[in-house]
Amino acid sequence: MVRYKSTRNSNISVTASEAVLKGLADDGGLFVPDSIPALDVSLQDLAGKSYQEVAYEVMKLFLSDYTEEELKHCINSAYDDKFDTKKIAPLKEADGAYYLELFHGATIAFKDMALSILPHLLTTAAKKHNMKEEIVILTATSGDTGKAALAGFADVPGTSIIVFYPKDGVSKIQEKQMVTQVGDNTNVVAIHGNFDDAQTGVKEIFGDKELAKRMKEQGYQFSSANSINIGRLVPQVVYYVYTYVTLVAEGKLTCGEPMNVVVPTGNFGNILAAYYAKQMGVPVKKLICASNENKVLFDFFETGVYDRKREFVLTSSPSMDILVSSNLERLIYTCAGENSDVNAELMRQLKEEGKYEITSDMKAKLADFAGGYASEAETAATIRKVYEKAGYVIDTHTAVAATVFYKYREATKDDTVTVIASTASPYKFTRSVMEAVENKATDEDDFTLVDRLCEVSGVKVPNAIEEIRNAKVRHTMVCDKDKMQETVTGILGLK
Ligand SMILES: *Cc1c(COP(=O)(O)O)cnc(C)c1O
Repeated sequence: MVRYKSTRNSNISVTASEAVLKGLADDGGLFVPDSIPALDVSLQDLAGKSYQEVAYEVMKLFLSDYTEEELKHCINSAYDDKFDTKKIAPLKEADGAYYLELFHGATIAFKDMALSILPHLLTTAAKKHNMKEEIVILTATSGDTGKAALAGFADVPGTSIIVFYPKDGVSKIQEKQMVTQVGDNTNVVAIHGNFDDAQTGVKEIFGDKELAKRMKEQGYQFSSANSINIGRLVPQVVYYVYTYVTLVAEGKLTCGEPMNVVVPTGNFGNILAAYYAKQMGVPVKKLICASNENKVLFDFFETGVYDRKREFVLTSSPSMDILVSSNLERLIYTCAGENSDVNAELMRQLKEEGKYEITSDMKAKLADFAGGYASEAETAATIRKVYEKAGYVIDTHTAVAATVFYKYREATKDDTVTVIASTASPYKFTRSVMEAVENKATDEDDFTLVDRLCEVSGVKVPNAIEEIRNAKVRHTMVCDKDKMQETVTGILGLK
């Protein structure tokens, strides 16, 4: 039975449902499974199974204190017709790679893959533990998490949600998606600051023991929908297993043959899930971590030095504009030989000095990873190239990954079957995508561009976009980055 330890104190150990409820460990560490379970059915037997069936086989191993009935209920409530395809996560082949389309859920970004199930995992856990407090989801978003979490938690009984986003750090469509969110339990706040400011603010609120006590006395408990929650991470492992067995079922891979994955990375959740899938027994050869111009992770994989002290660049792939990748801590903990003291010290250095360096022994354990990055110009050129060669339109985040794929293949001549995680629909970043496809800047209205993207790509405009064309703005709160705590207590009406 898998239990969860804190990356900063191995003596802390909780069950899966407790880890889902708490989000973050009390000492500020992240929960990690005490061992990564191996799949107990063969990949061959999984080939051809539905997404929901594969999800159950993967998640039951990680969420071992959920009953079969509970887990199947969560899975079936999440992966239903909120997704616009029965495959849930379909593959498209284009110009020498397979694009794993993770954007067929309610908000057309890959965050839906986990955030459509997290509310069910959380409310199930609350029931198991006879929790009486209302769960308050507090989230910092670089754009996509916010909307996906809002959609997942809207009007879920026993929960409320507060989302902070950087006022000038998200696309117009992302912002409109959030500020038009319905649901009596939803709150959206713009902050004057960037994503890291929002994330730091949220972490501080979570770490405030005094506030937690006040909350509890008044019937509330915080939880996190950020990708640090294992209830986000575990569902992401599923689609890497599913992709592999789908490629086997379709005869694109023989069972046992390796695949590479390229993941456009921000907070390091998605690629960490691929790493866990590998440890479960999926033959993944290289985990290729793709960054945009905020290339902290590329530098880290090159040098072993993680240095967040640099200029923060606003790019056309805003969901990856991140200098502190929270989930990397789980990998650091692993490559430190699960030594929580070593990890805690490195995280202290990151917080206080802005950087840390891992030892060469630790670095040697990262050999499965390769790093790459794409400039803004390269990203746009890749969107145009894939469109011209294959008639396939990809979004800016996916294009960062595709650029890194081309560069990696060119540099290494590695011709392993490659899966590129396609993390958002091009409709979510229509302006940047159309400017890239047409190779010129435009000041046309967003929805004019939506209609032209439809003509160009031949892909139907998703519901998520149609919905916001005429939707009413419901959220207008703005606060300074050092006023986030007051904002939260104000929204909850805490005494
Ligand atoms: C969140 C997000 C990413 C980054 O994923 P991480 O798990 O944070 O590394 C990439 N692309 C899109 C579109 C996203 O929404």
